[in-house]
Amino acid sequence: MKSSAHHLTSKLPKLPDSIFSTMSGLAKEYNAINISQGFPNFEPDPALIELVTKAMKEGYNQYAPLGGIYPLKEVIAEKIAFLYGTKYDPQSEITITVGATQAIFTAISALVWPNDEVIVLKPAYDCYEPAIIANGGIPVLIQLTGKDYAIDWDVFKSHLSDKTRMVIINTPHNPSGMVFSNSDMLMLQSCLKDTNIILLSDEVYEHIVFDNNIHESASKYPDLASRSLVCASFGKTFHATGWKMGYCVAPAELMKEFQKIHEFNVFCVNHPFQRALAEYLKNPAHYLDLGPFYQQKRDLFLTAIKNSRFKFTPTRGTYFQLLDFAEITDESDLDFAERLVKEFGIACIPISVFNKDLVDNNQIRICFAKTTETLLKAAEIITSI
Ligand code: PMP
Ligand code: GLN
Repeated sequence: MKSSAHHLTSKLPKLPDSIFSTMSGLAKEYNAINISQGFPNFEPDPALIELVTKAMKEGYNQYAPLGGIYPLKEVIAEKIAFLYGTKYDPQSEITITVGATQAIFTAISALVWPNDEVIVLKPAYDCYEPAIIANGGIPVLIQLTGKDYAIDWDVFKSHLSDKTRMVIINTPHNPSGMVFSNSDMLMLQSCLKDTNIILLSDEVYEHIVFDNNIHESASKYPDLASRSLVCASFGKTFHATGWKMGYCVAPAELMKEFQKIHEFNVFCVNHPFQRALAEYLKNPAHYLDLGPFYQQKRDLFLTAIKNSRFKFTPTRGTYFQLLDFAEITDESDLDFAERLVKEFGIACIPISVFNKDLVDNNQIRICFAKTTETLLKAAEIITSI
């Protein structure tokens, strides 16, 4: 149908197609192994599914309270106190959201004003910049350095100004697998000290860290926590990305503003899933076991591709692994990723789309949240390239 709004001006005129939809679509079309988009190809714990069914049968099928049900917020507060030593008030400082995506959009809508600058570290997950632009803000992009994406804190500091309203960080980092160290967090804390800058910390992979790395939550650093909205995703933690359940925690003053937007965006989120998650989250093993679970998958995959021509450094966190193809071809990462689907039957994500100015570092990202069978099949193809 043709729109009668002839003079429509798009708020997001330069939006590229989602690389996740593109690559998953190509994987389907060419019947390729899909290790592109980040989602598990195995099921959540049947006990968790049972809890959802039970909640529905018990009649939790009407609206939940505005910020989420108290028992879920309470167990989230306990988890954060246990892991990061910070107490959030369940009622005034925690909101249950439709995945982390809604939490991130709501935080930006609530706190970024037209012409405010927002620092985004590139490569960046794709939902930050459109949310900033749709709300009239100006993304200020800082490229992380080298092929392992380190933070140059002098460069970071030089981009802060009295126009900076917000800084967005993501640790563990998608797509690179980099994790912020304790000294990174202390540097960030000192850079933001004595400013009014708000920190939006995307920590959806908080439980997926490997080797001797520790997840350094913004919640753990008092001077950061006091200016931070921290976003999390049950989709990542409980192998249920299609449930779109997450949460945001922040000091009461920030959370109050967050909830003003949340109220008129969704009001409340899926009730029976909240009931189920409140029960399931009571057992810390359900999130503490996630790191070892995915480390085993990472190691299985990396051992299986050790004789391939791709170069890699084992990822430190997330369920993503970067593979460097510089010694295989001088094609662009986009062309190479397309050829991998069409000629080799394997779909991955080219990294340039996340980088500042689409810088091409000859890297692709694979997702190892897959069954052993899929990982071994994928590894066989990768080793043959
Ligand atoms: N942030 C990052 C870094 C992600 O990788 C993702 C998801 N895939 C999200 C946010 C969004 O999470 P959700 O699916 O819970 O909306
Ligand atoms: N976060 C997932 C990834 O990085 C994809 C989510 C999406 O499809 N938007 O692959």
